[in-house]
Amino acid sequence: MKILSRISFIILIGLICLTQTTLSAKCITYKRPIFRYEKEVIDCPIVSSNDKRQTQATPDNMFVVNFNCSVADKVLCNKVQNVFVTAGKFITATINLKSVVSVDAKFLDFCANFGECDTQAIILGAAGPARFIPFQDNDKVRLLPQALYKQLNLPQHPQFGPNEIMATFNSNMTYWFEGDPLPMLRRQADLLYVVLHELVHGLGFVNSWNDEFGLQVLTPMLGQIVEDNPIGGLPPTPKTLFLETIFDKNLVILPDGVPLTTVTDQLNQFQFTPTTSEQDFISSQQFQIAKGIYNDGITSDKIGFVLTPGIPKNVPLTQDQIQNNVLILETSLNPFMPSSSIGHSDFRTYLNSGDFLMLFTYPPGKTLGEMLDRSNTTSTTGPIGPRLRTLLGIIGYDIKQDYTPPTTLSTIQSNDNTTNSSDNNNAKPLSSSSIVSSNLVLSLVCILSVISFI
Ligand SMILES: [Zn+2]
Repeated sequence: MKILSRISFIILIGLICLTQTTLSAKCITYKRPIFRYEKEVIDCPIVSSNDKRQTQATPDNMFVVNFNCSVADKVLCNKVQNVFVTAGKFITATINLKSVVSVDAKFLDFCANFGECDTQAIILGAAGPARFIPFQDNDKVRLLPQALYKQLNLPQHPQFGPNEIMATFNSNMTYWFEGDPLPMLRRQADLLYVVLHELVHGLGFVNSWNDEFGLQVLTPMLGQIVEDNPIGGLPPTPKTLFLETIFDKNLVILPDGVPLTTVTDQLNQFQFTPTTSEQDFISSQQFQIAKGIYNDGITSDKIGFVLTPGIPKNVPLTQDQIQNNVLILETSLNPFMPSSSIGHSDFRTYLNSGDFLMLFTYPPGKTLGEMLDRSNTTSTTGPIGPRLRTLLGIIGYDIKQDYTPPTTLSTIQSNDNTTNSSDNNNAKPLSSSSIVSSNLVLSLVCILSVISFI
């Protein structure tokens, strides 16, 4: 895919250093989510909270969507807009959001606008936090998506951007909408699934580990933090280093139990300066460490998100612990796929489970209602499955104790009077091979881990 192009090491490092004369907190922003290399490090000075935006948020929908529909079919535009409303209600039914989440959403033709015209590997959408804000965690600075930072309701905070989430959806695709006939065609996708998936990325299901330099090594993204100058009276100094997102804090190598955050500390022993060359990095001990993580990133079941506190660090996990206390992440793609690898739940493990929402590719041929029905989670957790609920709670969201579905989604069972709707025994689970046998791949381009400075 064209959008996955590589950023030159020299340009990367050189341009970072251009920003070093500015004295301020640094945030990371995005302009167009599909172009994951269009990131900017910007100044975001500390301001007093003054979010006086008038919004239409309601207790049952804390999302406000600024929707831009670029297709002529206004009926379709209305259907898409309604999907955003429903998606906001599903998430609000799960998370106790204390501040409104504003979404900049676009519905447009990826072929006409971005030259993404592949008919066999169709990109459905791309989304992520519109801004990452550095946050002093208990052990180190990590990046918080603005949506999460806003939930803290701090009286003072680094300046927020206008929206918490940026999302783009491809109109060059025939979506299935509630009320359309079932079964859905295999070449279709339920837009509600796609929108929910992308919004959850925007809330913080975002990892920072990526082949940042195009050298088949994995590191967290390069960013900057501003530190007080140890010499009194001198201005604070920005420092270039590898920065994790809050999601990365709980990642471990499986089954070894090595926390990836300690690997970040090892990588940050490498000092970036204005004259650092690619060769300097390649020759370093840290390069070999990053190469090892790349190998983990392309080996099945090698990286997971720990869901249970108290799991000892650096102690191998048992199979039982991996099954019950970890969300296994997608590391079976080889070569490493930026935006897909690590930043999703493992396809093979979770396709037929209640945690089907964050797979790297669309579960073929099924609507969201059918997936919920198949996994018996329609009225227990809804689309945000049991592991995903726990994960979102760990990164900082307040998860509601009880879940009440905001609306009823249709399934084949409920539409078919000859079938008992409570009988799921006939539901045919999808196997991971069904995605391989299908030559159509519906991609969810999600995030976004290479940094550039324009
Ligand atoms: Zn995704």
